Amino acid sequence: MEDEQNVVKDFNDIELNKHELDFLRLSFPKIHLYESPMIGTEEIRQYIYCKRIIYFRHVIKAPMEQTVKMELGTKKHEILQALEGKDDESSISKYYNIYLTDPQINLVGVIDYFEFDGKEAYPVEIKTGKVPKNGVEKRFKYQIVAQAILIEKNFNFLVKKAKIAYTKEKKVIEIPITIDDKIKVMEIIREIQKIIKNEEIPPPTKDKAKCVDCECRKYC
Ligand code: SF4
Repeated sequence: MEDEQNVVKDFNDIELNKHELDFLRLSFPKIHLYESPMIGTEEIRQYIYCKRIIYFRHVIKAPMEQTVKMELGTKKHEILQALEGKDDESSISKYYNIYLTDPQINLVGVIDYFEFDGKEAYPVEIKTGKVPKNGVEKRFKYQIVAQAILIEKNFNFLVKKAKIAYTKEKKVIEIPITIDDKIKVMEIIREIQKIIKNEEIPPPTKDKAKCVDCECRKYC
């Protein structure tokens, strides 16, 4: 047991130079080896909520309490149709639970659901709460923008909008996605990579109300 632990420790300590990394890439073409940390769409949301969460989750890898995640995956389009009050449209292609990566910008994520209507593709989010009075919260907006980038890069569609369906109020809203939004996500990816690479703990959020429900509260 002790030996096994040492092997794992030693393996974690290995640092490969560029030549060795290229050799591994050629030897195992199906395994993707990235030189910079890949950042998930979830991390975009966490970073906007509080930069410190990135440190606890991805630098010290502190164990987090389980959160309840609704199984909305393949039911999303049915919920959307019910809310929009229309039958299934055969002209709309639907894609579920797709794991997408973009090694160029180091972005990764699972897209629960997106549609392609023949002209445009757009991600769809289902929210169980009410339509927010002051617009969609920034953290959710940029998470969905990150999904839009992944769809765009992997399928060659230009993604200019997303749909958010609020089940409580039975409303579907569209949010425009601009070039500036996409640039902002790329900046956030670089900021998150910096935190992970430098192993620096960012300052706490100034909005202390956020700490009440924060999964990292016991470490912070
Ligand atoms: S407890 Fe507050 S400051 Fe600490 S990580 Fe959570 S939100 Fe940020």
